[in-house]
Amino acid sequence: MSHALTLYRLQQTDTRLDQVQTRLREIGNSLENNPALRAAREQVQTSDSARTQAEKTLREAELNAQSKRIKLETAESNLYGGRIHNPKELQDLQSNVAALKRQLAPLEDGQLEAMLAVETAQEKNAQSQAALRQVEATVINQNSLLKGEKSTLEHERDRLIAERSANTATLPADTLQLYETLRQKKRGLAVARVTENTCGACGNELTPTQAQAARQAGQFVHCASCGRIIFSN
Ligand SMILES: [Zn+2]
Repeated sequence: MSHALTLYRLQQTDTRLDQVQTRLREIGNSLENNPALRAAREQVQTSDSARTQAEKTLREAELNAQSKRIKLETAESNLYGGRIHNPKELQDLQSNVAALKRQLAPLEDGQLEAMLAVETAQEKNAQSQAALRQVEATVINQNSLLKGEKSTLEHERDRLIAERSANTATLPADTLQLYETLRQKKRGLAVARVTENTCGACGNELTPTQAQAARQAGQFVHCASCGRIIFSN
């Protein structure tokens, strides 16, 4: 086999190997870090804190209203209990009861408002938990597909690496060096196939002499435009 053909085959192997490695990295990232799952978990955390805060506000509102109610009940039982007969004292008690009633009204409104806020926060929290469960189910499904693809690609990668070593073993060191250097400079593509007398990588048209030379075994012809090794069969 000519070295040009071996290089061409090595290039095909490496191109596919690059694709496989890129896809394997993508799969690895998806398996470790799923943006939809992270967003759904954050949503649950946010709605958890909102619910906790709303419940705390409600407890405070309940306590405030409750302590005012106890004061009012005490004042009313003193007023209507029949134990106090002094008119001045009764009058004071009456205005105290009236004042306590005025103070209680906004506290009870606040309590009702806080109850509604808790209901809303609980609903939102339940919704975000349901959404998370749905995302988790989808991710488990996706991950099992991804794991299947990963295992197929890992087998292919191992096969390509074996193919690669078989090819490189037959190449002289300086040829391999030339190939690797070109791969680094030319975004992974060192060898281009000639199609209809043009370089398959950059589209540059070859002179008849170059096209002829590319067909001959035993020498490397570089594309005059992109510098890649051109291979023709
Ligand atoms: Zn070219």
